Amino acid sequence: MTIKDKILGKLISNKGTPVSGEKLASELSVSRAAVWKHIKTLRGEGYMIDSTTNRGYSLTGAPDLLAPAQIKAGLNTCIIGKEIHYFKEIESTNTKAREIAHSAEEGTVVIAETQSGGKGRIGRKWLSPEGGIWLSIILKPKIQPLHAARLTLLAGLAAAKTIQGMSIEAKIKWPNDVLVKGKKVCGILTEMEAELDRIDYCVVGIGINANVDTELFPEEIRDLSTSLEHELGHAVNRNWFVRRLLEEFEKEYLTFQKDGFSSILEEWRNMSGTIGEYVKITTQAKTIYGEAVGVDDDGTLVIETNDGKLEKIVAGTCEHLRRT
Ligand code: ATP
Repeated sequence: MTIKDKILGKLISNKGTPVSGEKLASELSVSRAAVWKHIKTLRGEGYMIDSTTNRGYSLTGAPDLLAPAQIKAGLNTCIIGKEIHYFKEIESTNTKAREIAHSAEEGTVVIAETQSGGKGRIGRKWLSPEGGIWLSIILKPKIQPLHAARLTLLAGLAAAKTIQGMSIEAKIKWPNDVLVKGKKVCGILTEMEAELDRIDYCVVGIGINANVDTELFPEEIRDLSTSLEHELGHAVNRNWFVRRLLEEFEKEYLTFQKDGFSSILEEWRNMSGTIGEYVKITTQAKTIYGEAVGVDDDGTLVIETNDGKLEKIVAGTCEHLRRT
């Protein structure tokens, strides 16, 4: 964490009560002039900081920006989000996370206000305008590479539960989307680097349309997407949301490491919007129509086709169709 972030963290944790420049300087082992310089920079970034002679600095307002110091203030996790790399603009948080993954601690997060080249599955694009939450988490799980798809389900569950915690009815669409009233509010992209029998690292990208105006999306996506702001009727405090999401993610991740995947899967099934739906599945090899009847241990979707056969789908695109 930079000195500037540490100063901001201290102002946040003092909740508007002034902290003297002298105290900040001695606690952070810098000069009072350096404290003043960072306060000036923070003001330049939109933070409203009052300064009163003899009493010190107090934070009276913050810009609507993601800020690692604000995310970390009160963050109740052991590994996830201990280190946060923040960018105003980036090509892709997943790409950045992959660049730094080898030397990064597990749980390191890369987060950005906008992505110019946000990625979806199989080369698709993920729109990432201002107001959204675009983040990637670096993980180094001790699991077999063939079980990596479980992390996508786990991330979808964490995102859906966090959204549900705001009294928005969220459902998970297999394998990697969170929907509200049938519209996409969140997408997940898991990428990994692995040997045959061992994962070097996984990067779990989570994109959330938080305070995004999806009316501005291109026509073909507009009607299929929504945002938290739209569903709630007011903007979301994104730093608060990220904190809740990271806490939820860590809870699921630690349960997965300690007790295995079955309890995660059970919760996933309960929040699934896909099981019970009549779906169209497109894989590289074929297109299948049928009812989604279950998801097995590795996240494989089980389809009962029209002629009563069970088909297992490891990867593919899933469309929910209305029965005719
Ligand atoms: P789908 O199931 O919606 O066909 P997918 O889950 O297979 O898509 P993803 O990689 O998850 O594919 O998402 C990429 C797709 O999501 C894009 O092709 C586009 O249609 C849509 N999309 C892109 N950006 C957003 C966004 N910010 N919000 C909602 N949907 C988006």
